[in-house]
Amino acid sequence: MLDTFFSSARAVPQLLLDAVLPPQCLACNAAVGAPGNLCPECFSAFNFITAPMCRACGVPLEGVAGDELVCGACAHEPQVFGQARAAFLYESGSRALVLKLKHGDRTDAAAHLARWLARAGGPLLERCDVIAPVPLHRWRLFMRTYNQSALLANALGKLTGKSVRADALVRIKATRSQGGLDRRARRRNVARAFSVRRPAAVEGRHVLLVDDVLTTGATANACAQVLLDAGAAGVDVLALARVPHPGRVSS
Ligand SMILES: [Zn+2]
Ligand SMILES: [Zn+2]
Repeated sequence: MLDTFFSSARAVPQLLLDAVLPPQCLACNAAVGAPGNLCPECFSAFNFITAPMCRACGVPLEGVAGDELVCGACAHEPQVFGQARAAFLYESGSRALVLKLKHGDRTDAAAHLARWLARAGGPLLERCDVIAPVPLHRWRLFMRTYNQSALLANALGKLTGKSVRADALVRIKATRSQGGLDRRARRRNVARAFSVRRPAAVEGRHVLLVDDVLTTGATANACAQVLLDAGAAGVDVLALARVPHPGRVSS
């Protein structure tokens, strides 16, 4: 009863805002025709990922075609996860949107972004039994008050009807930011950083791991490893954005 009262009380200001303010572009806050859209300028600056791409990690491959291609990095060292897909490239045109979600300026965007995830995830979503976000360490969660990947995972679950276990994984090591680290350093940084908190939630099930940004795949691989060790039938990864050339990481 009280819960209902408080959630209704919280909903009122948003409803009022929606009625007073025109819908805003997800990335730059310019007025747009309908909620959940990008303005024409941002739309042209976004690179949504389409085929051809690496069958494993989903990085776009230029000038080649085929469904079974793998990129150099995956050929050199196979990923632990099955397949990864992302909605758009993480670069100058799209960075602002990802950062706004991360820093809590546009948490309202999650429901709209879930549609982009669903489009990019296609077959990965079809075969998944449970959606699990990449967790934040509790200190970072405390500082930021919410986990942007859990926000995306919950919105995706609501959209698709798939079950979401935000508590399936836990980050047991407060790792430093992956920014500026190369592939090997990233892998070292996240080694033994995760643990499965709810083995029963993933045992024998196909898990779809949700993250905001996919870079080298080091975090996704570390999560996939503990999930597979706990008996998951398979692990795929779905991210909002991915770095185009993981070998050249600048952020
Ligand atoms: Zn815009
Ligand atoms: Zn690849």
